[in-house]
Amino acid sequence: MPSPAMPGLMQDWPLTCNRILDHAAIQHPNRDIVSRSVEGEIHRTTYRELRARALRLAKRLEKWGLKEGERAATLAWNTWRHMEAWYGVMGVGGIYHTVNPRLFPDQIAWIVNHAEDRLILVDSTFVPLLENIWPQLKTIELVVVLTNAAHMPGTSLPAVPYEEWLAEVDGDFAWKALDERAAAGMCYTSGTTGNPKGVVYSHRSNVLHAMSASVPDMLGLSSRDRVMPVVPLFHANGWSLAFSAPMAGSALVLPGPRMDGEAIWELLDREHVTLTAAVPTVWLMLLQYLETTGMTLPWLERVVIGGSACPRAMTEKFENVYNVRVMHAWGMTEMSPIGSVCTLKPEVADVDGSALLDIQEKQGHAPFGVEMKITDDDGNPRPWDGRTFGRLKVRGPAVASSYFKGDGGEILDDEGYFDTGDVAHIDEFGYMQITDRAKDVIKSGGEWISTIDLENIAVGHPDVAEAAVIGVAHPKWDERPLLVIVPREGKSPDKADVLAFMDGKIAKWWMPNDVVIVDEIPHTATGKIKKTKLREQFSDYSFPD
Ligand code: AMP
Repeated sequence: MPSPAMPGLMQDWPLTCNRILDHAAIQHPNRDIVSRSVEGEIHRTTYRELRARALRLAKRLEKWGLKEGERAATLAWNTWRHMEAWYGVMGVGGIYHTVNPRLFPDQIAWIVNHAEDRLILVDSTFVPLLENIWPQLKTIELVVVLTNAAHMPGTSLPAVPYEEWLAEVDGDFAWKALDERAAAGMCYTSGTTGNPKGVVYSHRSNVLHAMSASVPDMLGLSSRDRVMPVVPLFHANGWSLAFSAPMAGSALVLPGPRMDGEAIWELLDREHVTLTAAVPTVWLMLLQYLETTGMTLPWLERVVIGGSACPRAMTEKFENVYNVRVMHAWGMTEMSPIGSVCTLKPEVADVDGSALLDIQEKQGHAPFGVEMKITDDDGNPRPWDGRTFGRLKVRGPAVASSYFKGDGGEILDDEGYFDTGDVAHIDEFGYMQITDRAKDVIKSGGEWISTIDLENIAVGHPDVAEAAVIGVAHPKWDERPLLVIVPREGKSPDKADVLAFMDGKIAKWWMPNDVVIVDEIPHTATGKIKKTKLREQFSDYSFPD
């Protein structure tokens, strides 16, 4: 960085994450934080109390010996204790490292060893999982079970109950003074091939990202909102909601371990949630619950859907049946994670009906702090015409510059852009639409077919619950699409009927060559369709003549 000819004369106020909680506790001290606890009952606290307990935890961690720059893992559901763990660990200069419990046990062990976590804060639900991998863990010295002595599971691990451990100190502590560029948190990519890679967020990147993600044209959070992050804190930095909600002073409703349709609906309804966020598979469960019970969503105003493409039929249901605004969003672990949200710019604000659904199929436009480009395979920029596909690349202050320990080597191009691995087009108004992962796109006769587009259309069929499209080798065209579908409960879709339903909605040459009906489609630990597994499953498949 060049030194300025004339420095500005404003205060150098490090953008550290503890300031977010300070702000919430000062400006919104009594705002609700409601959690479904792992023990089962509904727990209520406030930002004032959460801050007090996070300070106490920071003090307890200091007494235990956690030093600046050291990592503390969490293996936990979304509850107030998990939030305290994040802020407490950061408050003493440590780094929260959220581990996804849905990964394979060996992968979890690999990640914890790679991050060199010194302790782990774990929900009692995951104690058996931890016991199972314990012999493989090389760096963990202490297990803190996020419960009290009365609910402490019997275990051979070197474990203490969080509440009693915390009570050993008072809360008289000041947040560690930190450089805003210091590491604050870590999250490993869910990588379907190779080892996961560690993404390291800084205090500055978390604060800047939370600010830019919560403005009106992005998540639009306010102190009048009651926000329910169903997306777990362990998925892609919890979509930043543990930072953006307290920054905005929004109340928080945390679903804990229960993410079934009924449990989600119960909290949405009882707690008058106004905005919620999760991957499409969660919303599929909720919509099925609503359909079978006849329940409605009178309080909910907005639903943020991301992590995988939101099918048009899902948007249509939320919008037209339940009167909930759908905010399609895209992002990734490497981006802190929000890269775009689909809200309406004035150029498209007047559309409705199917034209509105067309816009909402797009993943939206980027916030301040995310610059995008699409390029061909050689890195040449492609036009923003809403049609031309390209590799989607991004840069900004909350985008990774490299992975932990330098894994994967140099990850930026000459202009500092990170290749997302996604293929997308962008229209003249800046609305981006993901058409595929680069490795999933089907190359048919030299042209690209978007598997996401085909899947979105197929799930619009009334008998189809879920759809996935993969490329299968074809003697003439190299690859052709195979549509794999899971029927809705009690339905038995007819292949020809599904294809007839798709006919006319896509170019003729995009039509799948065949349809296969299965009971289940494999998913990754973050709820995405696992195409690698599906391709393996159909490796012997060949199209009928
Ligand atoms: P993760 O880091 O686990 O959140 O995965 C990030 C990847 O998920 C992105 O690179 C996309 O491939 C995919 N993804 C996230 N959001 C969307 C979305 N709204 N539509 C399509 N793909 C998405």
